[in-house]
Amino acid sequence: MEKICVAVRVRPSITQENINGSFWMVDSSCISLHSKHGTPVSSLSFEFDHVFDQDCTNARVYELHTKDVIQAAVNGFNGTAFAYGQTSSGKTFTMNGSLEDPGIIRLAVQDIFKSIKLITEREFLIRVSYLEIYNEEINDLFALENQKLQVHESLERGVFVSGLREEIVNRPEDILRLIELGESNRHVGQTNMNARSSRSHTIFRMVIESRGKDAPFAGDTLTTDAVRVSVLNLVDLAGSERIAKTGADGVRLKEGKNINKSLMVLGTVINKLSDNGGKQRGHIPYRDSKLTRILQPALGGNAKTSIICTIAPEEAHIDETRGTLQFASRAK
Ligand code: ADP
Ligand code: MG
Repeated sequence: MEKICVAVRVRPSITQENINGSFWMVDSSCISLHSKHGTPVSSLSFEFDHVFDQDCTNARVYELHTKDVIQAAVNGFNGTAFAYGQTSSGKTFTMNGSLEDPGIIRLAVQDIFKSIKLITEREFLIRVSYLEIYNEEINDLFALENQKLQVHESLERGVFVSGLREEIVNRPEDILRLIELGESNRHVGQTNMNARSSRSHTIFRMVIESRGKDAPFAGDTLTTDAVRVSVLNLVDLAGSERIAKTGADGVRLKEGKNINKSLMVLGTVINKLSDNGGKQRGHIPYRDSKLTRILQPALGGNAKTSIICTIAPEEAHIDETRGTLQFASRAK
């Protein structure tokens, strides 16, 4: 079973430049930038599991690329799906989507509820939480008063965020309402919400617990398959652009360093995991950033990971696009 799947997604053009300008051509292994006359300007060849062009819907990305991770989570395996790319390349569109084209999070929620309904021999309990990591600080998107939360580790619970609100949900509608709450909280109090959302990572987490209906009651010895608990992280990362470009002042610079640090550590972790193919691995620096620490239980080991690298079609973004494709190819 392939543990890390990597896809690249090109968003449609949103700038005037592209109406008559350059464009990306994609096929399964090669992404090339063409001038308006159709001549290739730049060609980048990598092997990815999928390449999605500008006409591709979230539903298709979900079906082809992410569904496996979600199905594995229903069956007891931890998993993480995340979107990586520069600001305005389509990460939030991919994870959250729009009314007409719901994103990976909503599609996953619907799929999970549909799936567990069909598994009649087990009882399920689903808990969700939603957090933001901004400037290496963890904030609860379900409860704004829960700020600067700490990561702890215990034998019983493993790695966990202390004080984070977890909601038990029984119906998809419950989760969808909570997601809306979280999304609106992501922006509260911001003078420039785009600036903040491009600098924060968000993790929407579902914990799926199930037990066989004829499993012994608590207190009796449980057979190994009686209870399963899996953690699923759906992650919208901060923009991967280099801070130098944004003309950073003091505060921005600190934010930028922290974001880049998290993303750099994430890149190293992913790289190590894929290099070793899950076999003999050296030290994996999960503890070097809040992001990787929180994701750790569902990244590596038996967990499945799906990465969607989003890129912009405009030629002006070619350096960032190159950086994103490099991240993508290092993950393979
Ligand atoms: P990011 O989260 O990476 O900063 P966004 O998801 O906010 O970027 O995307 C930037 C803009 O492009 C938004 O207006 C979004 O609706 C639009 N967009 C991104 N990807 C797509 C897509 N695949 N199809 C249609 N519109 C998209
Ligand atoms: Mg975004």
